[in-house]
Amino acid sequence: MSSCPICECSASVNEFGRWGRRLRVSCPRCGDFIITDWVIYLLTNNSSINALWRPKLSHWIRKKQLAGEEVKIDSNNYESILNEATLPSAMEQSDNLILWLGSALKRSEEIIDINPNYIAAVIGATDEKGVEYIASHLVEQRLIKYSMREKTSNREANLTSVGLTLDGWGKYKELKQGGRAIGFGVKPEQ
Ligand SMILES: [Zn+2]
Repeated sequence: MSSCPICECSASVNEFGRWGRRLRVSCPRCGDFIITDWVIYLLTNNSSINALWRPKLSHWIRKKQLAGEEVKIDSNNYESILNEATLPSAMEQSDNLILWLGSALKRSEEIIDINPNYIAAVIGATDEKGVEYIASHLVEQRLIKYSMREKTSNREANLTSVGLTLDGWGKYKELKQGGRAIGFGVKPEQ
């Protein structure tokens, strides 16, 4: 396993391409994408790029993944992607978590075990702490169920168990009716 050039999580990274090295990345946080070596060099060596470029790009890539789009980042498009990639406000992240859960759960009572880094990319949080912050508020509002799952070994990734309460499903319905979405079904706010 190597690490994802965007979010630095452990990921599968394969080189290919004859003209300029390209990497095919399969990351548990960002998802699948292709990026050129040159863009990675530009991103990691340009001090004028916003310090939050990693979580911003991770969220951008994950949104495209959820919309079923193939993501290829090269020197022609990386600047416009950087301009487009933003992290949503805490309130939007909170709505994103409800929206994602509503679309990901197959049954009302289902609880899924998932890597919090994946949730960070989906909702647009900076990291696991950001996810905890949003989740703890939603637990206080009794909209979601959320708990860290016990690790059986140190090498295992952190997992959280997460589901929606009945009120959470009500909130999901409300958000959907209001036309909210995060790249999986509802249009993002303009
Ligand atoms: Zn990643």
